[in-house]
Amino acid sequence: MRVLILGGTSEASKLAELLAAETGIMAVLSYAGRTTALRAPPIPYRTGGFGGIEGLEHYLRSGRIDVLVDATHPFAEQISRHAQAAAARAGIPLVVLSRPPWVPEAGDRWIEASTMAEAARALGEAPKRVFLTIGRLQISAFAAAPQHYYLIRTIEPPGPLQDLPRAKVIQGRGPFEASAEAEILRAESIDVIVTKNSGGEAAYAKILAARQLGLPVIMVARPQEAAAAAFHDPADVLDFLCRHKTALAPRGV
Ligand code: NAP
Repeated sequence: MRVLILGGTSEASKLAELLAAETGIMAVLSYAGRTTALRAPPIPYRTGGFGGIEGLEHYLRSGRIDVLVDATHPFAEQISRHAQAAAARAGIPLVVLSRPPWVPEAGDRWIEASTMAEAARALGEAPKRVFLTIGRLQISAFAAAPQHYYLIRTIEPPGPLQDLPRAKVIQGRGPFEASAEAEILRAESIDVIVTKNSGGEAAYAKILAARQLGLPVIMVARPQEAAAAAFHDPADVLDFLCRHKTALAPRGV
């Protein structure tokens, strides 16, 4: 059985590890090619876009892929839309693997926003000191609120930020420690954090630190997920694939 995993997340890498040990399932892990320091997975991999829905459908058909696994980040909206459309066009099942979202706990002061533009508006008129940890691709939404100071943390440099006159960039890749996050919040006199509800442990430390310091968090909700078999645990996807493999196997006489 042939499987294509759309990756770029720790969940996708974990699934790749599980599949490396599995006989009878040939899986390829696909990366967008955004990050420069790519760690080679234990299964075959490819990098770069497919060329839209048509390109992905062509890849699925020409590679005789039996199951498509969308294990991309919950906020990677476009590729997930393409995955749903291309799997339907190729007539194969789509499985979604995503980490569970964070939920507020006692002591959390969350302000929910459904888009980045709404998050920028939620900062209000009065200038604030903002810790912006939303990745680098949607920073431009905050050009609508240039009066704030932004401490921006990204994995890769975000490029010029001329629309945000009071911005400072720090680079960092999780996992982060709550004590170190609290130190940043204190040292930078941060008033409010803006983040996406990515879920997972690696980036949760800032939520813990905000709770400790009583700081508000503007939490951008996830886009809607595709209607497909959905799992949070890579082991459950492996089970699904093994069951599908059995269903695909020619019956003996
Ligand atoms: P996106 O906006 O949904 O996708 C933009 C385009 O990038 C897609 O149309 C596709 O190009 C290509 N692409 C995306 N993921 C791909 C993959 N795994 N394999 C091959 N091509 C892929 O995606 P994004 O938000 O820029 O995220 C890019 C990658 O970074 C994703 O793989 C995601 O898992 C990872 N990531 C994203 C975030 C986030 O917050 N967005 C955070 C951590 C990791 P074509 O149309 O040409 O096929």
